[in-house]
Amino acid sequence: MANMPNCPKCQSEYTYEDGALYICPECAFEWTDETETSEEQKVVKDSNGNVLNDGDTVSVIKDLKVKGSSSVIKIGTKVKNIRLVEGDHDIDCKIDGFGPMQLKSEFVKKI
Ligand SMILES: [Zn+2]
Repeated sequence: MANMPNCPKCQSEYTYEDGALYICPECAFEWTDETETSEEQKVVKDSNGNVLNDGDTVSVIKDLKVKGSSSVIKIGTKVKNIRLVEGDHDIDCKIDGFGPMQLKSEFVKKI
């Protein structure tokens, strides 16, 4: 019982584990272990099916129109130091000459 977290609601030490749940017998509060859920994070893959990670360098595989402007990010543009985010556009990055940008992982490939 050494690693059992205290109840987040009433701080009771007498919590126990039931499958994926932690249960507090004192106030009947149930919650899940946050470290476990973060391990089930969505895996982001590039157009070739390679897994992408924060800090990776990718290149753009097709011309991409920049929302709200007439500029286009050309195919082959290198994007350094990407950051994976939640959402439809799952890559957060900065592109030289364009500034901060969000891309879709299906339109890039890992270099
Ligand atoms: Zn409790």
